[in-house]
Amino acid sequence: MNKLVLLCLMFLCMSCAFAQVSSQPNQLTKAQVIQKVCRGSEITSGPEFDIFHRAFAKLAPVIQQDPHVVYMALADNNDINAWATNFDMTHSMICVPVAMVHFMGDAEGELAFIIAHEIGHTVDDVCKTESGRLAVANSRGSLGALFGSLVGGSQGAVSASKVSQQRGCEARADEIGFGIFTKAGYSPYAAAGAFGRLEMYMGDTSTGIFARLNALGSDHPMTPDRIKHMRTLLINFASQSAGGVQ
Ligand SMILES: [Zn+2]
Repeated sequence: MNKLVLLCLMFLCMSCAFAQVSSQPNQLTKAQVIQKVCRGSEITSGPEFDIFHRAFAKLAPVIQQDPHVVYMALADNNDINAWATNFDMTHSMICVPVAMVHFMGDAEGELAFIIAHEIGHTVDDVCKTESGRLAVANSRGSLGALFGSLVGGSQGAVSASKVSQQRGCEARADEIGFGIFTKAGYSPYAAAGAFGRLEMYMGDTSTGIFARLNALGSDHPMTPDRIKHMRTLLINFASQSAGGVQ
């Protein structure tokens, strides 16, 4: 209960930040901000809220010392998705649609990983700036830009670079989220479960070259690529848990 109060207090600051960012002459109310950012009103009770809050209560202590102010809202929204909106470098909102809670069923760990991934976006200052995102894209190599320029000329290269930035930042959110998630005491394999559930829903099980080209145009990394990255994180975690012996 204390945490809820704390969140409300933090929210007052975030509301100011949102008003500044959106240049609204009148400060929006908390309900208006959530409606706008989460595309649905906030749900604060009921069985879905209980599941959401259980996950939140386990994850929150891990980032308690973090200077970022993050408001997490369960939203009355039918999208099977979740997203983070950074208002500035320190104030963010995470929207978890109630449809996502239904989709994850009673698998609290899987839902918690999705939330932890979004927390990853809110605490990753590198991906909040254009220069940071460019550095992330450059460190990933120029495969995306190469494909982009082949199919779309210089414009294609620019948009492919954007995709490469997005991919890099998604991978970083997975990694940061995985760290928070495992520190909170969840089984690392629940992250794999969340991926499997999403993959089954999206039907994205191909790793062929055409799937890769197609996926260049999408907002998120192709699921098998993320699975490959997740597998590396799981192997590293298992290796560390075993004291470095595989
Ligand atoms: Zn993401």
